Amino acid sequence: MDELRELYQEVILDHGKHPRNFKSIEDATSKAHGNNPLCGDQLTIYIKLSDDGLIQDIAFTGRGCAISMASASMLTELAIGKTESRMNEIFTAFHEMCIGSGNSIELDEELEKLQVLSGVREFPTRVKCATLSWHTLIAALSGDIEVTTE
Ligand code: ZN
Repeated sequence: MDELRELYQEVILDHGKHPRNFKSIEDATSKAHGNNPLCGDQLTIYIKLSDDGLIQDIAFTGRGCAISMASASMLTELAIGKTESRMNEIFTAFHEMCIGSGNSIELDEELEKLQVLSGVREFPTRVKCATLSWHTLIAALSGDIEVTTE
């Protein structure tokens, strides 16, 4: 278990230091700004949707703690090619995993990748760090431009 924890830590640090898709998208079809005042995490998510509703491109900018940055980085990797409804499903399962009530859910491929963030369940205030990018994504997809965890 400790080895697993160490591995998770490494993945989080790697994504935190070298976030994937860390840029803005000039011709984004939607974007939203997320704010987690509790920790000071701030980020903007840019999404480009294709005509048939798939996330064609997604990126983010901002700054915050390693967990918020790693979560956003992983989110962007995972979201490409998916629909809004699929992202909603994954978010629900991911959120359950973060607050520790989702033990019975079957981990599919996407969720398995996000499992490195499941350690936040031991630190309730960190759940907001891990889910900020997701709240921001959902807001952007539903046309809101501002979201805060407060
Ligand atoms: Zn944070």
